[in-house]
Amino acid sequence: PGEEVAAQAASLFKDSGSPTIFDKIIAKEIPSKIVYEDDKVLAFRDINPQAPTHILIIPKHRDGLTQLSKAEERHKEILGELLYASTVVAKKEKLDDGYRIVINDGPQGCQSVYHLHIHLVGGRQMKWPPG
Ligand code: AMP
Repeated sequence: PGEEVAAQAASLFKDSGSPTIFDKIIAKEIPSKIVYEDDKVLAFRDINPQAPTHILIIPKHRDGLTQLSKAEERHKEILGELLYASTVVAKKEKLDDGYRIVINDGPQGCQSVYHLHIHLVGGRQMKWPPG
């Protein structure tokens, strides 16, 4: 038990961020419309969609990834998993004419939830440059 407590403390220290609403979504304590799930990744519909399809793809274990700019060497694998899962979800959603992937980082990037997430938006014509 002592070791377990130490491991928990170490993982909290490593994570450094506060819990977010996504922890409750992962724990299924609050409802969400899940579109894809595996052991590492969860994808669910954004509650405030900015396009006909708007899905968030997140790591189930945040492991310090409160935002993209906090990425470290150990995160390379999960970063790949998230991006690849986005393509699986896009296919499932039949976004055959294209889509957009967005990661908002920090205050200037308009990030509001500090648990890394990829936005997958599609189902309409996108514009460039983004706002
Ligand atoms: P960001 O602004 O990039 O941090 O994105 C956070 C996203 O989370 C926003 O698009 C919100 O609409 C979305 N969001 C917040 N709470 C929920 C929730 N309970 N279920 C689904 N999406 C949510």
